This record gives sequence, structure tokens and C-alpha cells, in this order.
Amino acid sequence: MTELPARRLLLVHAHPDDESINNGATMARYAAEGAHVTLVTCTLGERGEVIPPELRHLTGPALGAHRRGELAAALRALGVEDGRLLGGAGRYGDSGMMGIPDNEDPGCFWQAGVDEAAGRLAEVILEVRPQVVVTYDDQGGYGHPDHIQAHRVAMRAVDLAAERGHRVDRVYWNRVPRSVAEAAFGRLQDELSVLPFDKSASVDDVPGVVDDERITTTIDGGAHAAAKAAAMRAHATQIEVAEPYFALSNELAQPLFTTEYYELVRGPARGAGTDLFGGLEEAS
Ligand SMILES: [Zn+2]
Repeated sequence: MTELPARRLLLVHAHPDDESINNGATMARYAAEGAHVTLVTCTLGERGEVIPPELRHLTGPALGAHRRGELAAALRALGVEDGRLLGGAGRYGDSGMMGIPDNEDPGCFWQAGVDEAAGRLAEVILEVRPQVVVTYDDQGGYGHPDHIQAHRVAMRAVDLAAERGHRVDRVYWNRVPRSVAEAAFGRLQDELSVLPFDKSASVDDVPGVVDDERITTTIDGGAHAAAKAAAMRAHATQIEVAEPYFALSNELAQPLFTTEYYELVRGPARGAGTDLFGGLEEAS
């Protein structure tokens, strides 16, 4: 088996596009620095709403297959080579937004057993042996069932992997500091008239917004802003980009953050301020 790079980062996401929106700059930065970056995506997002009219005929498995191609293009834009689908393509279906009948589909990710799905993720963790795992908070950032389930599965998998021989040093949740979100929406209001979007989203629409003091780690991805925007554009069925803003299928403009923020929830905080791995080398 070939030796993996010294720094190894593993991110767990619900659907294709979540990785680019939340962590695109971080992934591009660490890949460029020579770290091994592994993305595990739990569903193909086949219940997502499609933005371009010419692609709206894509639904269900056809949309999933198309989004798999979008995800591959996004990872190329980010310079990330190790993208995986939890349990293989189509193992877990998109559950749709919270409260709809699709949530009851026995094949959807929301209905999967946490231990069963976490066992599959733990196998990836044991193979890659990441020092750092990134996922969502316990609300999945904003309450989507697949995001909540991705959180549960990721946290459980870290425990299972520890029992089986690999202890992840740090776990982070994706965050946006409230002051940063408020300032960005203030700028957005001023610029909205010249953007290709009619209306603005609000701070409450942004996943993972918390009070500033909970932020432990700030990743300046400015050097990778173009890669992040390109990765988001690769998800053309889901995202319309007009830097430094974007919109999802609701057509509400929101900021495209190239500085990305994290809350360390497990592991030593020392050295973690501007580097997910900071301070870990001397310990490992
Ligand atoms: Zn998602």
C-alpha cells in the first residue's frame, strides 16, 4: 500500500455541493499544501431542485447520476482526488427536506441505521487514518435530515474507529460567525441591485451561524477563492454563482465565503487558530 501524506483531512457531507459551499477553500488549500483530503458524500442529492430549465427533466436516479458528475468536476477544481460515496453510489437515498413523505422512504439516508452507516464510514477512517474530521453540528447546520444524519454518522464513526484502532485527533463542525454573516449580508443589500438575483436570503438561511466566541479556527482561503467558485459552479444544477455571492434554487442571494470557519468540538485546541492541523505534529 502506498504511503499517504503526513496530514490527512476527512470531510463528511450529505449531498454533492455541500463540500464546495462549506469547505471549498479549505479543501483546496490543504490539497495544494500536499495534505491528503478525503471527501465522503452520503447521498447523491437526487431529490434536489434543479435550477437550469434545460436540466429540469432530470429527477431521481438520473439527477443523482448527473450530480455525481458535477461532484467529480468540483473535486477536480479543488485539486482533491479522494472523493467517495458512503457505501457506494446509491446506497443511501436523498431524504428530501424535513417533514415531507420522502423522509419515510426506507432507502433514504434518514432511515438508515446510524451504527450501520457509521460502520461503513469507520472503514474509510481506518483506511485513511485522518488526524482531522470535519462535519456539521447536531442540527446539521440548518435542519435538513440528511445533514443531521451525516452529523450523527460522522460522530459515531469517529468513536467506532477509535475502538478499532485509529483515534481521530480533532473533530470540527462547520460554522459561520454571526458578525461575519451580518456584515456580509449588509454588503449584499447594498449591491443587490447590480446582481443577477432579485432577493437576498437572510442570516437565518445560512447553516451553522453561531456567536463569534464559539469559532475556534479560521481558515483564510483567499488564495483559493477562484477554485472554490469554480467548484461551486460545477454544481450547476444546484448553485448559481455571481462572486462574491451565490444562490441556491430558491434564488435568494447569499454571501460566498472564502474565509471558512470551524468550531473544534473534540481534541486539543492549542495551535488550532488558523490551521486545522496546527499543533498536532509534535503530538503524533
Ligand atoms: Zn445538502
